[in-house]
Amino acid sequence: MPAGETQLTVVEPPLRLARAEDIAWDETADVVVVGFGGAGACAALEAVERGGSVIALDRFAGGGATAYSGGVVYAGGTRVQAEAGVADSAQAMFDYLSLEVGDAITPATLRRFCEGSAADLEWLMRHGVTYSRDAMLDKTAYPPDRYGLYFSGNEKVPRYKQVAAPAPRGHRATGRGFTGQAYFAALRASALNAGVRLLPHAPVRRLILDGDGEVLGVEAQVLPDAVRARHAELYGKAGPLPFTGDQAEAAIRAAQALEREAGGERRRIRALGGVVLAAGGYIFNLEMLREHRPLLAENFRAFLRLGSMGDDGSGIRLGQSAGGAPAMLENVFVNKLIAPPEGLLKGVAVNDRGERFINEDAYCGFLGAAIAEQQGGRAWLILDHKGFWRVVRQCLRLRDRDLFKMFLVPTLLNILRGGTRRAGTLRRLAGKTGLDPDRLERTVAANNRAAAGGVDPFGKSPEHVRQIAARPFYALNLSLANPLGFVQLFTLSALRVDEETGEVLRREGGAIRGLYAAGRNAVGLCAQGYLSGMSLADGVFSGRRAGACAAARAAGSTAAAAPPEAVRD
Ligand SMILES: Cc1cc2nc3c(=O)[nH]c(=O)nc-3n(C[C@H](O)[C@H](O)[C@H](O)COP(=O)(O)OP(=O)(O)OC[C@H]3O[C@@H](n4cnc5c(N)ncnc54)[C@H](O)[C@@H]3O)c2cc1C
Repeated sequence: MPAGETQLTVVEPPLRLARAEDIAWDETADVVVVGFGGAGACAALEAVERGGSVIALDRFAGGGATAYSGGVVYAGGTRVQAEAGVADSAQAMFDYLSLEVGDAITPATLRRFCEGSAADLEWLMRHGVTYSRDAMLDKTAYPPDRYGLYFSGNEKVPRYKQVAAPAPRGHRATGRGFTGQAYFAALRASALNAGVRLLPHAPVRRLILDGDGEVLGVEAQVLPDAVRARHAELYGKAGPLPFTGDQAEAAIRAAQALEREAGGERRRIRALGGVVLAAGGYIFNLEMLREHRPLLAENFRAFLRLGSMGDDGSGIRLGQSAGGAPAMLENVFVNKLIAPPEGLLKGVAVNDRGERFINEDAYCGFLGAAIAEQQGGRAWLILDHKGFWRVVRQCLRLRDRDLFKMFLVPTLLNILRGGTRRAGTLRRLAGKTGLDPDRLERTVAANNRAAAGGVDPFGKSPEHVRQIAARPFYALNLSLANPLGFVQLFTLSALRVDEETGEVLRREGGAIRGLYAAGRNAVGLCAQGYLSGMSLADGVFSGRRAGACAAARAAGSTAAAAPPEAVRD
């Protein structure tokens, strides 16, 4: 197989039985959770709290992308905010998110999420996740260790704050550096203490259905003890690290070969209430990425893929194997961080034509998505002499060690080795970068008029609109193919679900009885666009919903009848 290719996800067609009694099941539980990352842990905990017995399986040891993450949960009107002196409400959060989430979910679901988010945070705290009461109010892509709150989206951008009172809603779990590890460790410990049975190194290979297409359970491959250490070692070679694209692809192929050759026991597990698919997205399945986002797949070596080797698309494939309908699989979070240092926000981002295409102070995921829409994914940030040296000074003066490592080292590397161009005039800069010179001059002139008291045509906050006039001029390379751009990706959409219950929907309509999806396996709150904290928050929201409804179904009430209120605290 050529370098850079992976096999398709190893998911087998379902085993179809006339009746559940037709086979001897190896184990039985009320709820079976496929994938023990953030959403899976929440589903398992919720189900067990509601009296259900739960078996959770993970292809590896559990944790998934959640354990690698920043541990930020988006929530509003919370006790943490109040104790930090931040005024906020579910209504303000709803007003803001209504502008951001698109129409992948209904307004009623968004309202339920907003109104329940403070309770979801309390629930997380009850399960051991902790938050500091310090709020960081400057713009940052991720706050230093001492902060528990920050503005994690576009809340302060003028066109949003005109509509919704801004508040810092990114709740960052306490800990050092990226705190997804601490966030997941708390949920894992709580779930295991509560009686959730975890089967690690047990990839689910197929679903088991009855004659009516209802999901009865799963069949998993439980890997022998002898190969688990090697399996875990390979897992560690694919993750959110720069310059490791080929290493990750080789490790993925090696893990698939090991699973194929190791054999192990096939175990059939009956789920009396339902199977919850919580097996993550598909960013480490290049084949699927090629199918849905060819430009991103082509440049995969340049990116940090924000996920774990478990993001292999198998949850989506399992859902499809039972007739589930995926939607919007092309939606990928393309993250281009430029602040800190905030001096970069004062430049103008242009495409090949020399035209601006976004307000540079937009949320970093919006900037990345907008670059991905430009011809060839190419873009440059234009600065003048003053602006360029302001950025360099900001990089060198930053005292916080974590921020320095996370943002300023990448910025300096890009400036020094990423293909930065310098020229005495804008026309010559255009010549060196392949931009249209006339349009570039017009773009910079328009920026300078806005800086002189006009209005920025893209709605950038006035404090970031500055003259670009002092020679020489600089162009920093923001293009997707630039490996020193450190662009980050993860997939956002998956299987369509009933928004009241989390049941997976069929292509032809109607729910698949006994099958639920959560987190990055379900179309959810961030299916059409992600803001920091929305994926973990959606994992809590959709995980708890699926866990509650599957447990209710096992207890004899119909899942569809479980009112949303019953799913909330
Ligand atoms: C560096 C980084 C920073 C991030 N920061 C944030 C943040 O601060 N806030 C935020 O909201 N989002 C953040 N994200 C995104 C977020 O982490 C993920 O989108 C989210 O964790 C996905 O959760 P999940 O439960 O759906 O999947 P995961 O947490 O990835 O869990 C899926 C699990 O399923 C398992 N699995 C896969 N296939 C199978 C199978 N066939 N059988 C059994 N098990 C299987 C996997 O091994 C894995 O453990 C970040 C991501 C990264 C990598």
